[in-house]
Amino acid sequence: MPALYLRYRPETFQEVIGQAHVTTPLQHALAAGKTHHAYLFSGPRGCGKTTSARILARCLNCAQGPTDTPCGECPSCVELARDGGGSLDVVEIDAASHNGVEDARELRERAAFAPVRDRYKIFILDEAHMVTQQGFNALLKIVEEPPEHVKFIFATTEPEKVLTTIRSRTHHYPFRLVPPGDLLSYLHTVAETEGVELEPGVLALVVKSGGGSVRDTLSLLDQLIAGSLQHGVTLEAAQALLGYTPASTLDEVMVGLSTGNSRATFTALNHLLNTGQDPRRFVEDLLSHLRDIIVIQATSGASEDLFPGVSSDDLNRWGEHAQWFTPQQLTEMAQAVSSALAAMSGVTSPRLHLELLVAQLLSLTTAQDVETTKVSPEHHSGLSQESVAVPTDQSANASDSERSPEKSEPPPTDAVEPLSPWDLGVVKSHWPAIIEDLSDRKRSLWVALSATQPLALEGDVITIGFTNRNDGEILKKPQGPGSPLPNADLLREAIYQRTGHRLRFTVGQIEHAPSDDSLSPDAQWPVVSRSTSESPGQAVTEQQEPQEVSEEVSESGVEAEASTTPIATRGEPVVRQLLGGELLAEEILEDMSGRGEADV
Ligand SMILES: [Zn+2]
Repeated sequence: MPALYLRYRPETFQEVIGQAHVTTPLQHALAAGKTHHAYLFSGPRGCGKTTSARILARCLNCAQGPTDTPCGECPSCVELARDGGGSLDVVEIDAASHNGVEDARELRERAAFAPVRDRYKIFILDEAHMVTQQGFNALLKIVEEPPEHVKFIFATTEPEKVLTTIRSRTHHYPFRLVPPGDLLSYLHTVAETEGVELEPGVLALVVKSGGGSVRDTLSLLDQLIAGSLQHGVTLEAAQALLGYTPASTLDEVMVGLSTGNSRATFTALNHLLNTGQDPRRFVEDLLSHLRDIIVIQATSGASEDLFPGVSSDDLNRWGEHAQWFTPQQLTEMAQAVSSALAAMSGVTSPRLHLELLVAQLLSLTTAQDVETTKVSPEHHSGLSQESVAVPTDQSANASDSERSPEKSEPPPTDAVEPLSPWDLGVVKSHWPAIIEDLSDRKRSLWVALSATQPLALEGDVITIGFTNRNDGEILKKPQGPGSPLPNADLLREAIYQRTGHRLRFTVGQIEHAPSDDSLSPDAQWPVVSRSTSESPGQAVTEQQEPQEVSEEVSESGVEAEASTTPIATRGEPVVRQLLGGELLAEEILEDMSGRGEADV
Protein backbone atom coordinates (compact mmCIF):
# COMPACT_ATOMS: atom_id res chain seq x y z
CA MET A 1 0.00 0.00 0.00
CA PRO A 2 1.40 3.42 -0.92
CA ALA A 3 2.50 5.74 1.86
CA LEU A 4 -0.09 7.93 3.56
CA TYR A 5 1.27 11.14 2.13
CA LEU A 6 0.94 9.76 -1.38
CA ARG A 7 -2.57 8.47 -0.82
CA TYR A 8 -3.69 11.77 0.69
CA ARG A 9 -1.88 14.06 -1.73
CA PRO A 10 -4.28 16.92 -2.55
CA GLU A 11 -5.69 17.15 -6.08
CA THR A 12 -7.21 20.61 -5.80
CA PHE A 13 -6.26 23.84 -4.07
CA GLN A 14 -9.23 23.39 -1.72
CA GLU A 15 -7.59 20.27 -0.32
CA VAL A 16 -4.26 21.93 0.43
CA ILE A 17 -4.11 22.67 4.15
CA GLY A 18 -2.54 25.58 5.94
CA GLN A 19 -1.54 27.56 2.82
CA ALA A 20 -4.64 29.66 2.23
CA HIS A 21 -2.50 32.80 1.91
CA VAL A 22 -1.07 31.23 -1.25
CA THR A 23 -3.83 29.06 -2.62
CA THR A 24 -6.61 31.66 -2.35
CA PRO A 25 -4.92 34.33 -4.53
CA LEU A 26 -3.86 31.62 -6.97
CA GLN A 27 -7.45 30.44 -7.28
CA HIS A 28 -8.64 34.03 -7.73
CA ALA A 29 -6.09 34.62 -10.50
CA LEU A 30 -7.14 31.39 -12.21
CA ALA A 31 -10.83 32.23 -11.93
CA ALA A 32 -10.21 35.68 -13.34
CA GLY A 33 -8.08 34.29 -16.18
CA LYS A 34 -5.09 36.36 -15.10
CA THR A 35 -2.41 33.72 -15.24
CA HIS A 36 1.27 34.51 -15.41
CA HIS A 37 3.92 32.70 -17.46
CA ALA A 38 6.28 31.90 -14.56
CA TYR A 39 5.69 31.11 -10.89
CA LEU A 40 8.04 30.70 -7.98
CA PHE A 41 6.80 28.56 -5.08
CA SER A 42 9.13 28.82 -2.11
CA GLY A 43 8.98 27.45 1.43
CA PRO A 44 10.16 24.74 3.80
CA ARG A 45 10.26 21.13 2.72
CA GLY A 46 7.14 19.03 2.75
CA CYS A 47 4.63 21.85 3.02
CA GLY A 48 3.01 21.52 -0.39
CA LYS A 49 5.06 23.39 -3.00
CA THR A 50 5.43 20.60 -5.54
CA THR A 51 1.91 19.37 -4.90
CA SER A 52 0.59 22.87 -5.49
CA ALA A 53 2.65 23.15 -8.66
CA ARG A 54 0.96 19.99 -9.96
CA ILE A 55 -2.44 21.32 -8.97
CA LEU A 56 -1.70 24.57 -10.77
CA ALA A 57 -0.70 22.60 -13.86
CA ARG A 58 -3.93 20.63 -13.57
CA CYS A 59 -5.95 23.85 -13.31
CA LEU A 60 -4.18 25.40 -16.28
CA ASN A 61 -4.54 22.41 -18.58
CA CYS A 62 -8.05 21.25 -17.64
CA ALA A 63 -10.20 21.03 -20.74
CA GLN A 64 -12.73 23.24 -18.96
CA GLY A 65 -10.00 25.68 -17.89
CA PRO A 66 -7.98 27.51 -17.09
CA THR A 67 -10.03 27.15 -13.96
CA ASP A 68 -9.61 27.29 -10.17
CA THR A 69 -11.48 24.00 -9.87
CA PRO A 70 -10.29 21.31 -12.31
CA CYS A 71 -13.14 19.18 -13.65
CA GLY A 72 -11.44 15.91 -12.73
CA GLU A 73 -12.89 14.16 -15.79
CA CYS A 74 -11.06 15.42 -18.85
CA PRO A 75 -7.98 13.40 -19.99
CA SER A 76 -5.58 15.97 -18.58
CA CYS A 77 -7.32 16.02 -15.19
CA VAL A 78 -7.31 12.22 -15.03
CA GLU A 79 -3.66 11.96 -16.00
CA LEU A 80 -2.65 14.58 -13.46
CA ALA A 81 -4.72 13.10 -10.67
CA ARG A 82 -3.14 11.49 -7.59
CA ASP A 83 -2.92 8.04 -9.18
CA GLY A 84 -2.72 9.23 -12.78
CA GLY A 85 0.20 8.41 -15.03
CA GLY A 86 1.27 11.99 -15.67
CA SER A 87 0.77 14.12 -18.75
CA LEU A 88 3.10 14.56 -21.69
CA ASP A 89 2.53 18.28 -21.55
CA VAL A 90 3.52 18.67 -17.92
CA VAL A 91 7.25 18.12 -17.52
CA GLU A 92 8.68 17.72 -14.03
CA ILE A 93 12.41 18.28 -13.75
CA ASP A 94 14.40 17.59 -10.64
CA ALA A 95 16.89 20.40 -10.79
CA ALA A 96 19.05 18.68 -8.20
CA SER A 97 20.18 16.20 -10.85
CA HIS A 98 19.56 18.28 -13.98
CA ASN A 99 21.18 21.53 -13.05
CA GLY A 100 23.76 22.17 -15.72
CA VAL A 101 23.81 24.34 -18.76
CA GLU A 102 23.22 21.33 -21.05
CA ASP A 103 20.00 20.48 -19.24
CA ALA A 104 18.88 24.10 -19.48
CA ARG A 105 19.54 24.11 -23.23
CA GLU A 106 17.62 20.87 -23.66
CA LEU A 107 14.73 22.35 -21.72
CA ARG A 108 14.84 25.42 -23.95
CA GLU A 109 14.60 23.24 -27.07
CA ARG A 110 11.71 21.23 -25.67
CA ALA A 111 9.88 24.45 -24.84
CA ALA A 112 9.97 25.44 -28.48
CA PHE A 113 7.60 22.59 -29.40
CA ALA A 114 3.88 23.09 -29.09
CA PRO A 115 1.96 21.10 -26.47
CA VAL A 116 1.02 17.60 -27.57
CA ARG A 117 -2.63 17.80 -26.64
CA ASP A 118 -3.37 20.37 -23.96
CA ARG A 119 -3.39 24.13 -23.67
CA TYR A 120 0.09 24.66 -22.24
CA LYS A 121 3.49 23.03 -22.06
CA ILE A 122 4.19 23.32 -18.35
CA PHE A 123 7.65 22.91 -16.84
CA ILE A 124 7.86 22.25 -13.10
CA LEU A 125 11.41 22.75 -11.84
CA ASP A 126 11.74 21.17 -8.44
CA GLU A 127 14.67 22.18 -6.21
CA ALA A 128 15.17 25.15 -8.49
CA HIS A 129 17.90 26.59 -6.27
CA MET A 130 20.15 23.73 -7.45
CA VAL A 131 20.30 25.08 -11.00
CA THR A 132 23.76 26.47 -11.67
CA GLN A 133 24.47 30.06 -12.58
CA GLN A 134 25.13 29.03 -16.20
CA GLY A 135 21.98 26.96 -16.20
CA PHE A 136 19.93 29.94 -15.09
CA ASN A 137 21.62 32.14 -17.67
CA ALA A 138 20.70 29.67 -20.38
CA LEU A 139 17.12 29.70 -19.14
CA LEU A 140 16.90 33.45 -18.72
CA LYS A 141 15.86 34.27 -22.28
CA ILE A 142 13.00 31.81 -22.40
CA VAL A 143 11.73 32.70 -18.92
CA GLU A 144 11.86 36.38 -19.87
CA GLU A 145 9.92 35.98 -23.08
CA PRO A 146 8.42 32.51 -23.26
CA PRO A 147 6.27 31.38 -26.17
CA GLU A 148 2.52 31.76 -25.54
CA HIS A 149 2.11 28.03 -24.88
CA VAL A 150 4.81 27.70 -22.16
CA LYS A 151 4.46 28.04 -18.37
CA PHE A 152 7.19 27.69 -15.76
CA ILE A 153 6.72 26.75 -12.12
CA PHE A 154 9.85 26.88 -9.99
CA ALA A 155 9.72 25.23 -6.58
CA THR A 156 12.49 25.81 -4.09
CA THR A 157 13.35 25.80 -0.41
CA GLU A 158 15.87 28.59 -0.98
CA PRO A 159 14.37 31.32 -3.17
CA GLU A 160 17.30 33.66 -2.47
CA LYS A 161 19.55 31.25 -4.43
CA VAL A 162 17.44 31.56 -7.54
CA LEU A 163 18.97 34.07 -9.92
CA THR A 164 17.49 37.50 -9.23
CA THR A 165 16.80 38.14 -12.90
CA ILE A 166 14.77 34.91 -13.02
CA ARG A 167 13.04 35.61 -9.72
CA SER A 168 11.96 39.03 -10.84
CA ARG A 169 10.20 37.49 -13.87
CA THR A 170 8.09 35.24 -11.69
CA HIS A 171 5.10 35.62 -9.43
CA HIS A 172 6.46 34.57 -6.07
CA TYR A 173 4.24 32.60 -3.67
CA PRO A 174 5.90 31.87 -0.32
CA PHE A 175 4.60 28.70 1.34
CA ARG A 176 4.84 28.34 5.11
CA LEU A 177 5.04 25.63 7.71
CA VAL A 178 1.57 24.40 8.48
CA PRO A 179 0.17 25.60 11.86
CA PRO A 180 -0.28 22.77 14.40
CA GLY A 181 -4.04 23.37 14.68
CA ASP A 182 -4.58 22.85 10.95
CA LEU A 183 -2.37 19.77 10.90
CA LEU A 184 -4.10 18.31 13.91
CA SER A 185 -7.61 18.49 12.54
CA TYR A 186 -6.28 17.13 9.26
CA LEU A 187 -4.66 14.16 11.01
CA HIS A 188 -7.92 13.49 12.84
CA THR A 189 -9.64 13.19 9.48
CA VAL A 190 -6.92 10.93 8.12
CA ALA A 191 -6.97 8.68 11.21
CA GLU A 192 -10.74 8.42 11.00
CA THR A 193 -10.65 7.57 7.31
CA GLU A 194 -7.98 4.95 7.98
CA GLY A 195 -10.00 3.54 10.87
CA VAL A 196 -7.12 3.82 13.36
CA GLU A 197 -7.67 4.37 17.07
CA LEU A 198 -5.24 6.74 18.70
CA GLU A 199 -4.89 7.55 22.37
CA PRO A 200 -5.40 11.19 23.28
CA GLY A 201 -2.18 13.13 22.92
CA VAL A 202 -0.70 10.90 20.21
CA LEU A 203 -1.63 13.19 17.35
CA ALA A 204 -0.32 16.23 19.24
CA LEU A 205 3.03 14.46 19.55
CA VAL A 206 3.03 13.52 15.88
CA VAL A 207 2.26 17.10 14.91
CA LYS A 208 5.03 18.35 17.17
CA SER A 209 7.52 15.92 15.65
CA GLY A 210 6.49 16.74 12.11
CA GLY A 211 7.61 20.31 12.63
CA GLY A 212 4.92 21.79 10.38
CA SER A 213 5.75 19.69 7.36
CA VAL A 214 2.71 17.81 6.10
CA ARG A 215 4.80 15.15 4.42
CA ASP A 216 6.94 14.48 7.51
CA THR A 217 3.91 14.47 9.78
CA LEU A 218 2.03 11.98 7.62
CA SER A 219 5.13 9.78 7.36
CA LEU A 220 5.41 9.68 11.14
CA LEU A 221 1.75 8.80 11.51
CA ASP A 222 2.22 6.14 8.86
CA GLN A 223 5.10 4.62 10.80
CA LEU A 224 3.16 4.68 14.07
CA ILE A 225 0.16 2.98 12.51
CA ALA A 226 2.36 0.39 10.82
CA GLY A 227 4.06 -0.47 14.11
CA SER A 228 0.90 -0.66 16.19
CA LEU A 229 -1.19 -3.63 17.20
CA GLN A 230 -4.78 -3.90 16.08
CA HIS A 231 -6.10 -1.98 19.08
CA GLY A 232 -4.46 1.23 17.96
CA VAL A 233 -1.57 3.48 18.89
CA THR A 234 -0.83 4.17 22.55
CA LEU A 235 0.69 7.37 23.83
CA GLU A 236 3.52 5.42 25.37
CA ALA A 237 4.39 3.78 22.08
CA ALA A 238 4.28 7.14 20.34
CA GLN A 239 6.56 8.72 22.90
CA ALA A 240 9.01 5.87 22.63
CA LEU A 241 9.08 5.81 18.84
CA LEU A 242 9.26 9.57 18.42
CA GLY A 243 11.96 9.77 21.08
CA TYR A 244 10.10 12.06 23.44
CA THR A 245 10.89 12.19 27.11
CA PRO A 246 8.11 10.31 28.90
CA ALA A 247 5.70 12.65 30.63
CA SER A 248 6.32 10.86 33.92
CA THR A 249 10.02 11.70 33.80
CA LEU A 250 9.35 15.36 33.07
CA ASP A 251 6.94 15.27 35.98
CA GLU A 252 9.53 13.84 38.36
CA VAL A 253 12.13 16.38 37.28
CA MET A 254 9.74 19.30 37.72
CA VAL A 255 8.75 18.11 41.18
CA GLY A 256 12.39 17.64 42.12
CA LEU A 257 13.27 21.12 40.89
CA SER A 258 10.36 22.76 42.68
CA THR A 259 11.13 21.13 46.00
CA GLY A 260 14.88 21.48 45.66
CA ASN A 261 15.15 17.73 46.00
CA SER A 262 18.34 17.12 44.11
CA ARG A 263 18.38 13.40 44.82
CA ALA A 264 14.94 12.87 43.27
CA THR A 265 15.84 15.04 40.31
CA PHE A 266 19.07 13.27 39.54
CA THR A 267 17.53 9.87 40.09
CA ALA A 268 14.85 10.62 37.52
CA LEU A 269 17.51 11.85 35.16
CA ASN A 270 19.62 8.79 35.73
CA HIS A 271 16.75 6.45 34.90
CA LEU A 272 16.08 8.34 31.72
CA LEU A 273 19.67 8.40 30.52
CA ASN A 274 20.18 4.76 31.40
CA THR A 275 17.39 3.86 29.00
CA GLY A 276 19.50 5.38 26.25
CA GLN A 277 17.64 8.66 25.88
CA ASP A 278 19.69 11.37 24.20
CA PRO A 279 20.59 14.08 26.74
CA ARG A 280 20.06 16.77 24.10
CA ARG A 281 16.60 15.51 23.38
CA PHE A 282 15.74 15.73 27.06
CA VAL A 283 17.01 19.30 27.22
CA GLU A 284 14.91 20.16 24.16
CA ASP A 285 11.84 18.60 25.75
CA LEU A 286 12.51 20.37 29.04
CA LEU A 287 12.75 23.70 27.23
CA SER A 288 9.56 23.01 25.36
CA HIS A 289 7.86 22.03 28.61
CA LEU A 290 9.04 25.19 30.35
CA ARG A 291 7.65 27.18 27.46
CA ASP A 292 4.32 25.42 27.86
CA ILE A 293 4.03 26.12 31.56
CA ILE A 294 5.17 29.72 31.10
CA VAL A 295 2.27 30.15 28.68
CA ILE A 296 -0.14 28.45 31.09
CA GLN A 297 1.04 30.62 33.95
CA ALA A 298 0.80 33.79 31.87
CA THR A 299 -2.73 32.95 30.73
CA SER A 300 -3.88 31.84 34.19
CA GLY A 301 -4.75 28.39 32.93
CA ALA A 302 -7.30 29.60 30.38
CA SER A 303 -5.19 28.23 27.58
CA GLU A 304 -6.83 25.16 26.08
CA ASP A 305 -6.98 26.86 22.70
CA LEU A 306 -3.26 27.40 22.80
CA PHE A 307 -2.54 23.68 23.17
CA PRO A 308 -4.50 21.94 20.45
CA GLY A 309 -4.54 18.17 20.84
CA VAL A 310 -3.13 18.15 24.37
CA SER A 311 -5.34 16.11 26.69
CA SER A 312 -7.01 17.85 29.62
CA ASP A 313 -5.13 15.57 32.01
CA ASP A 314 -1.84 16.85 30.65
CA LEU A 315 -3.05 20.44 30.78
CA ASN A 316 -4.08 20.04 34.41
CA ARG A 317 -0.74 18.59 35.32
CA TRP A 318 1.12 21.38 33.52
CA GLY A 319 -1.09 23.84 35.35
CA GLU A 320 0.16 22.39 38.62
CA HIS A 321 3.75 22.74 37.46
CA ALA A 322 3.05 26.36 36.67
CA GLN A 323 1.95 26.97 40.25
CA TRP A 324 5.17 25.68 41.71
CA PHE A 325 7.37 28.41 40.28
CA THR A 326 7.35 32.16 40.10
CA PRO A 327 7.32 33.77 36.65
CA GLN A 328 10.85 34.97 37.26
CA GLN A 329 12.07 31.48 38.15
CA LEU A 330 10.49 30.03 35.03
CA THR A 331 12.04 32.66 32.80
CA GLU A 332 15.46 32.17 34.35
CA MET A 333 15.15 28.41 34.04
CA ALA A 334 14.14 28.68 30.40
CA GLN A 335 17.12 30.93 29.73
CA ALA A 336 19.49 28.53 31.43
CA VAL A 337 18.08 25.56 29.51
CA SER A 338 18.18 27.44 26.24
CA SER A 339 21.83 28.41 26.57
CA ALA A 340 22.71 24.90 27.73
CA LEU A 341 21.03 23.53 24.62
CA ALA A 342 23.03 25.87 22.42
CA ALA A 343 26.24 24.89 24.20
CA MET A 344 25.48 21.18 23.92
CA SER A 345 25.67 20.91 20.16
CA GLY A 346 28.72 18.93 19.22
CA VAL A 347 30.14 18.43 22.72
CA THR A 348 31.59 15.03 23.50
CA SER A 349 29.93 14.63 26.89
CA PRO A 350 26.38 15.95 26.60
CA ARG A 351 25.45 14.01 29.72
CA LEU A 352 27.88 16.03 31.82
CA HIS A 353 26.43 19.24 30.43
CA LEU A 354 22.94 18.06 31.22
CA GLU A 355 23.84 17.24 34.81
CA LEU A 356 25.52 20.58 35.32
CA LEU A 357 22.47 22.25 33.85
CA VAL A 358 20.21 20.46 36.31
CA ALA A 359 22.48 21.50 39.17
CA GLN A 360 22.19 25.06 37.94
CA LEU A 361 18.41 24.79 37.73
CA LEU A 362 18.27 23.46 41.27
CA SER A 363 20.24 26.46 42.46
CA LEU A 364 17.99 28.79 40.47
CA THR A 365 14.80 27.45 41.96
CA THR A 366 16.00 27.38 45.54
CA ALA A 367 18.81 29.92 45.94
CA GLN A 368 16.70 33.01 45.99
CA ASP A 369 14.08 33.74 48.60
CA VAL A 370 10.99 32.07 47.32
CA GLU A 371 8.00 34.27 46.97
CA THR A 372 5.04 33.57 49.18
CA THR A 373 2.69 33.04 46.25
CA LYS A 374 4.56 29.93 45.28
CA VAL A 375 2.72 26.74 46.04
CA SER A 376 4.99 23.80 46.47
CA PRO A 377 4.23 20.10 46.43
CA GLU A 378 5.07 18.05 49.46
CA HIS A 379 8.46 19.22 50.62
CA HIS A 380 11.19 16.59 50.29
CA SER A 381 8.56 13.91 50.12
CA GLY A 382 8.79 10.42 48.78
CA LEU A 383 7.53 11.63 45.43
CA SER A 384 5.36 8.75 44.39
CA GLN A 385 3.69 9.29 41.07
CA GLU A 386 0.23 9.58 42.66
CA SER A 387 1.21 12.11 45.26
CA VAL A 388 2.82 14.13 42.52
CA ALA A 389 -0.06 14.06 40.14
CA VAL A 390 -2.69 15.04 42.69
CA PRO A 391 -1.29 17.31 45.36
CA THR A 392 -4.32 18.38 47.32
CA ASP A 393 -4.86 21.91 48.46
CA GLN A 394 -4.30 20.84 52.03
CA SER A 395 -0.91 19.38 51.38
CA ALA A 396 0.09 22.43 49.40
CA ASN A 397 -0.99 24.76 52.17
CA ALA A 398 0.59 22.63 54.81
CA SER A 399 3.94 22.55 53.10
CA ASP A 400 3.69 26.26 52.46
CA SER A 401 3.22 27.12 56.10
CA GLU A 402 5.81 24.57 57.04
CA ARG A 403 8.31 26.31 54.85
CA SER A 404 7.50 29.88 55.67
CA PRO A 405 9.58 30.14 58.84
CA GLU A 406 12.66 29.16 56.88
CA LYS A 407 11.90 31.59 54.15
CA SER A 408 11.22 34.74 56.08
CA GLU A 409 14.15 36.72 57.38
CA PRO A 410 14.17 36.12 61.12
CA PRO A 411 13.50 39.45 62.82
CA PRO A 412 16.37 40.58 65.09
CA THR A 413 14.08 40.69 68.11
CA ASP A 414 13.18 37.04 67.65
CA ALA A 415 15.59 35.84 70.32
CA VAL A 416 16.43 32.15 70.53
CA GLU A 417 17.14 30.71 73.95
CA PRO A 418 20.88 29.82 73.98
CA LEU A 419 21.52 26.11 74.37
CA SER A 420 23.17 25.04 77.59
CA PRO A 421 25.39 23.18 78.19
CA TRP A 422 27.34 24.44 75.23
CA ASP A 423 30.36 22.68 73.79
CA LEU A 424 31.77 21.20 70.61
CA GLY A 425 29.69 18.05 71.01
CA VAL A 426 26.47 20.07 71.03
CA VAL A 427 27.52 21.96 67.92
CA LYS A 428 28.38 18.70 66.20
CA SER A 429 25.01 17.18 67.02
CA HIS A 430 23.18 20.16 65.50
CA TRP A 431 25.50 20.62 62.55
CA PRO A 432 23.64 18.49 59.94
CA ALA A 433 20.38 20.30 60.70
CA ILE A 434 22.07 23.70 60.52
CA ILE A 435 23.57 22.90 57.13
CA GLU A 436 20.29 21.46 55.89
CA ASP A 437 18.57 24.73 56.83
CA LEU A 438 20.93 26.47 54.43
CA SER A 439 19.72 24.38 51.51
CA ASP A 440 16.68 26.62 51.28
CA ARG A 441 18.59 29.84 51.78
CA LYS A 442 21.49 29.53 49.40
CA ARG A 443 22.06 26.44 47.35
CA SER A 444 25.72 26.94 46.54
CA LEU A 445 26.58 27.59 50.18
CA TRP A 446 24.72 24.49 51.23
CA VAL A 447 26.60 22.41 48.68
CA ALA A 448 29.93 23.82 49.82
CA LEU A 449 29.22 23.24 53.50
CA SER A 450 27.55 19.85 53.26
CA ALA A 451 30.84 17.99 53.68
CA THR A 452 32.12 20.13 56.55
CA GLN A 453 32.26 19.37 60.23
CA PRO A 454 32.93 21.44 63.36
CA LEU A 455 36.46 20.82 64.62
CA ALA A 456 36.87 23.06 67.61
CA LEU A 457 34.96 25.56 69.72
CA GLU A 458 36.81 28.17 71.77
CA GLY A 459 34.70 30.94 73.24
CA ASP A 460 32.56 32.23 70.43
CA VAL A 461 34.96 31.03 67.71
CA ILE A 462 34.24 27.81 65.92
CA THR A 463 36.68 26.05 63.60
CA ILE A 464 34.92 24.60 60.60
CA GLY A 465 36.68 21.71 58.93
CA PHE A 466 36.64 21.57 55.14
CA THR A 467 37.97 18.69 53.10
CA ASN A 468 39.89 21.31 51.18
CA ARG A 469 40.80 24.26 53.30
CA ASN A 470 40.55 26.64 50.35
CA ASP A 471 36.85 25.91 50.13
CA GLY A 472 36.45 27.87 53.33
CA GLU A 473 36.78 31.00 51.20
CA ILE A 474 33.13 30.67 50.38
CA LEU A 475 32.30 32.09 53.79
CA LYS A 476 33.96 35.39 52.89
CA LYS A 477 32.23 35.74 49.58
CA PRO A 478 29.24 38.06 49.30
CA GLN A 479 25.79 36.52 49.50
CA GLY A 480 25.00 37.76 46.03
CA PRO A 481 26.35 40.11 43.38
CA GLY A 482 26.62 43.53 44.99
CA SER A 483 25.64 42.33 48.43
CA PRO A 484 27.76 43.75 51.25
CA LEU A 485 27.00 40.76 53.49
CA PRO A 486 29.23 37.70 53.37
CA ASN A 487 27.94 34.13 53.27
CA ALA A 488 29.26 33.75 56.79
CA ASP A 489 26.28 35.81 57.99
CA LEU A 490 23.89 33.22 56.56
CA LEU A 491 25.67 30.44 58.38
CA ARG A 492 25.86 32.51 61.56
CA GLU A 493 22.12 33.08 61.42
CA ALA A 494 21.43 29.40 60.75
CA ILE A 495 23.52 28.42 63.77
CA TYR A 496 21.78 31.03 65.87
CA GLN A 497 18.35 29.78 64.88
CA ARG A 498 19.26 26.25 65.98
CA THR A 499 21.38 26.98 69.04
CA GLY A 500 20.86 30.56 70.20
CA HIS A 501 24.61 31.21 69.96
CA ARG A 502 26.25 33.73 67.63
CA LEU A 503 29.63 32.47 66.52
CA ARG A 504 32.64 33.63 64.61
CA PHE A 505 34.42 31.29 62.25
CA THR A 506 37.86 30.05 61.43
CA VAL A 507 38.58 27.52 58.77
CA GLY A 508 40.38 24.24 59.29
CA GLN A 509 40.92 21.12 57.31
CA ILE A 510 39.68 17.60 57.72
CA GLU A 511 41.48 14.85 55.97
CA HIS A 512 38.51 13.06 54.55
CA ALA A 513 34.82 13.56 54.30
CA PRO A 514 32.80 12.91 57.45
CA SER A 515 30.98 9.66 57.76
CA ASP A 516 27.63 9.30 56.08
CA ASP A 517 25.49 9.60 59.18
CA SER A 518 26.59 13.16 59.77
CA LEU A 519 25.46 14.11 56.30
CA SER A 520 21.98 15.01 55.32
CA PRO A 521 20.59 12.54 52.81
CA ASP A 522 20.59 15.03 50.01
CA ALA A 523 24.19 15.91 50.59
CA GLN A 524 25.23 12.75 48.79
CA TRP A 525 24.81 14.59 45.66
CA PRO A 526 25.26 12.56 42.51
CA VAL A 527 26.58 15.37 40.36
CA VAL A 528 29.59 15.97 42.54
CA SER A 529 30.99 12.54 42.20
CA ARG A 530 29.97 12.05 38.62
CA SER A 531 31.41 15.29 37.37
CA THR A 532 34.56 14.26 39.20
CA SER A 533 35.35 11.59 36.73
CA GLU A 534 34.44 13.55 33.65
CA SER A 535 35.32 17.16 34.30
CA PRO A 536 38.47 18.62 32.87
CA GLY A 537 41.15 19.12 35.46
CA GLN A 538 42.03 22.77 35.20
CA ALA A 539 40.09 24.14 38.14
CA VAL A 540 40.92 21.03 40.06
CA THR A 541 44.68 21.29 39.93
CA GLU A 542 44.52 24.85 41.17
CA GLN A 543 42.80 23.61 44.26
CA GLN A 544 45.21 20.79 44.92
CA GLU A 545 48.26 22.76 45.89
CA PRO A 546 49.40 22.15 49.43
CA GLN A 547 47.49 24.28 51.87
CA GLU A 548 48.89 26.32 54.68
CA VAL A 549 47.45 24.97 57.88
CA SER A 550 46.50 27.27 60.70
CA GLU A 551 47.87 26.79 64.19
CA GLU A 552 44.41 26.52 65.62
CA VAL A 553 43.71 23.52 63.52
CA SER A 554 46.88 21.75 64.51
CA GLU A 555 46.10 22.43 68.15
CA SER A 556 42.67 20.99 67.82
CA GLY A 557 44.34 17.70 67.10
CA VAL A 558 43.14 17.19 63.61
CA GLU A 559 45.40 15.66 61.04
CA ALA A 560 47.28 18.65 59.73
CA GLU A 561 48.67 17.10 56.59
CA ALA A 562 47.98 19.14 53.51
CA SER A 563 47.22 16.05 51.48
CA THR A 564 43.87 16.78 50.00
CA THR A 565 42.41 13.57 48.75
CA PRO A 566 41.71 14.29 45.09
CA ILE A 567 38.52 12.25 45.04
CA ALA A 568 36.89 14.22 47.78
CA THR A 569 37.47 17.64 46.31
CA ARG A 570 37.76 17.23 42.61
CA GLY A 571 34.96 18.74 40.62
CA GLU A 572 33.46 20.63 43.50
CA PRO A 573 34.97 23.99 42.58
CA VAL A 574 33.74 23.47 39.05
CA VAL A 575 30.25 22.69 40.17
CA ARG A 576 30.13 25.50 42.65
CA GLN A 577 31.27 28.04 40.13
CA LEU A 578 28.43 26.96 37.94
CA LEU A 579 25.98 26.98 40.76
CA GLY A 580 26.41 30.44 42.16
CA GLY A 581 27.64 33.88 41.30
CA GLU A 582 30.95 33.22 42.98
CA LEU A 583 33.07 34.05 39.99
CA LEU A 584 32.06 37.69 40.27
CA ALA A 585 33.57 37.87 43.70
CA GLU A 586 36.93 36.40 42.78
CA GLU A 587 38.76 39.74 43.06
CA ILE A 588 37.27 40.52 46.45
CA LEU A 589 38.40 37.09 47.47
CA GLU A 590 41.97 37.68 46.49
CA ASP A 591 42.02 40.94 48.42
CA MET A 592 40.74 39.21 51.46
CA SER A 593 42.92 36.14 51.30
CA GLY A 594 45.98 38.39 51.55
CA ARG A 595 45.06 39.14 55.12
CA GLY A 596 45.92 35.77 56.50
CA GLU A 597 43.65 33.96 58.92
CA ALA A 598 40.15 33.39 57.77
CA ASP A 599 38.46 35.09 60.65
CA VAL A 600 35.14 36.39 59.38
ZN1 LIG B 1 -10.42 18.81 -16.38
